Amino acid sequence: MQHIDEQYIIRNFDTALKKGYIKAYYQPVIRTLTEQICSVEALARWQDPEMGLLSPYLFITVLEKNRLIHKLDLMILENICYTYNEMREKGLPLHPFSINLSRLDFNEMDMLKAISDILEKYNVPSTAIHIEITESVMLDNTAYFRRIFDSFHEAGFAIFMDDFGSGYSSLNVLKDYSFDVLKIDMRFLSDIGMRSKKILSSVVNMAKAIGIHTLAEGVETREQILFLRTIGCEMLQGYYYSKPMSSEMYIDYLSASNITVEKRSESDYWDTIGKVNFLSPDPFNEISSDNFPIDDTSVLRESPTALALIEIDGKKVKFQYANRAYLDEINKLGYNNTREMEEAIESMPVVYFQNINEQIEMSLKTGKLIKKDHFANAVYFTYSTKCIAKTDSKYMLAASIKTFDPARTANREQMFEKYSRILIDTYDHITIIDHENNRIITRLYSKIGFTNEYLTMPLDKARVLFAQNEVIESERERFIKFTDISFVKKHIEKTENPILQQPFHIKNQDGKFIIRDIRIIRTTVEDGERFLFVIQSMSPSAQKKALEALEETFDDFN
Ligand code: C2E
Ligand code: MG
Ligand code: MG
Repeated sequence: MQHIDEQYIIRNFDTALKKGYIKAYYQPVIRTLTEQICSVEALARWQDPEMGLLSPYLFITVLEKNRLIHKLDLMILENICYTYNEMREKGLPLHPFSINLSRLDFNEMDMLKAISDILEKYNVPSTAIHIEITESVMLDNTAYFRRIFDSFHEAGFAIFMDDFGSGYSSLNVLKDYSFDVLKIDMRFLSDIGMRSKKILSSVVNMAKAIGIHTLAEGVETREQILFLRTIGCEMLQGYYYSKPMSSEMYIDYLSASNITVEKRSESDYWDTIGKVNFLSPDPFNEISSDNFPIDDTSVLRESPTALALIEIDGKKVKFQYANRAYLDEINKLGYNNTREMEEAIESMPVVYFQNINEQIEMSLKTGKLIKKDHFANAVYFTYSTKCIAKTDSKYMLAASIKTFDPARTANREQMFEKYSRILIDTYDHITIIDHENNRIITRLYSKIGFTNEYLTMPLDKARVLFAQNEVIESERERFIKFTDISFVKKHIEKTENPILQQPFHIKNQDGKFIIRDIRIIRTTVEDGERFLFVIQSMSPSAQKKALEALEETFDDFN
């Protein structure tokens, strides 16, 4: 490390400030899930004409000792304000900036007032500034600092706890103060071995349990990022993404690099999503219970509950996160990864996912946890969904999936077959109609024994002939109207009920007309829309009611 005379710093500090040798350098903070810039930390740099570039480690302690540090910190804030306004003028997307404050700043002056005055002078909102404080700041005088922090919070500033874990009283500090973000310095963990991983997992888990956001700084490798992503650490900062840059370099970087800045309107959305605890044994139900439990103690492994965060942006579906258990489950459905599933969703016709789509729509509409059973790719599964955050244009869905084990699936399939036969047996007659091609596809089942002739002719002819042959004369006209599929569709749309139902007198095999319940049911299959024409017999009491209803004619039916 460089050596420099303390006196040199003291003697030259004022000149350095005045001449602009001391400047803020900017290091971006990256949102882990999106890899967009969500804020930037300002770090002091002293570019001395004689001594060259001085590291903050060399001058900060000297300035602190000599009660000068507040001057530096307010200068850095002014630097931020310049940069902020320059970005605003250039039309660049804006984001918050962090400043580092020292414990001694608060001894020197009313820091909140000094900071607010500068922001007012430059017309920069307090929500654009995050305050970073190391735990040593608060070692004693808890009540005093709590009051100070409360007043910063009230004024709209977020407070970050810097270098968590470097001191010896971190847990106390967490208990006594309400921070918004915990900054964990990766450099305190000499390697990313098993022990470090366990420590990091525990810290992230704990932070989520008490509702504090997590940021890892000093991130240098892809390996670290992958791990931090798995455990749900929300933000990243470090040389891997970028070293601190001068204001000019940073503005060039923003204009030139392919890295983008998170939209302000989406920050709350990502903050809300960031609270999901990927490590909880049951993250999904934790999300659903609306308040996050704080009594959770098992922290060292990824959750055994399948969990994915799926972003829905109009028609676009994107998995932002999926844990191991989720990947295992979609594997059973035949997908090797979430990308394959996204592709399948994109390329398949919407009707294929009709049931799941309906479930998702309901989740979005109600904001509640929705749980439904589905059958796809020969597997039964229960799908749970809940909308956890939204912006004007997109939604984040938390989803969990639980497939039935194969033995149970096989068993279920057998049961399903058996019971669907029994169900079908409760009908007298079922035909499947392909209305688009004006034809009857097949007669699935019939106890009544109508002639097969109807199956061989176009649908519109079959309807009329069926009315003539099988329906009592006074009801023929109504029957023809009732079986007009374009009319049925309109009715279904209006009532939001896929079943249209009316009683008719239908001829029995002995030639007598018996009142029966007729339904037209809309269904969707892989290749489109189908209608089922279903006849069911009625109990004597149902017949009586139907006859009464027939008296009232079907006026509302138009
Ligand atoms: P800090 O606030 O924890 O800042 C992070 C430090 O880590 C910065 O060092 C940054 O350059 C460095 N860093 C960032 N990413 C990486 C990485 O991937 N690998 C490694 N090895 N280092 C990384 P810097 O700028 O030397 O600042 C040191 C400390 O000095 C800061 O730690 C902060 O506590 C203090 N400091 C810096 N600027 C100011 C200031 O304006 N006011 C006050 N009061 N303190 C400041
Ligand atoms: Mg800092
Ligand atoms: Mg730090």
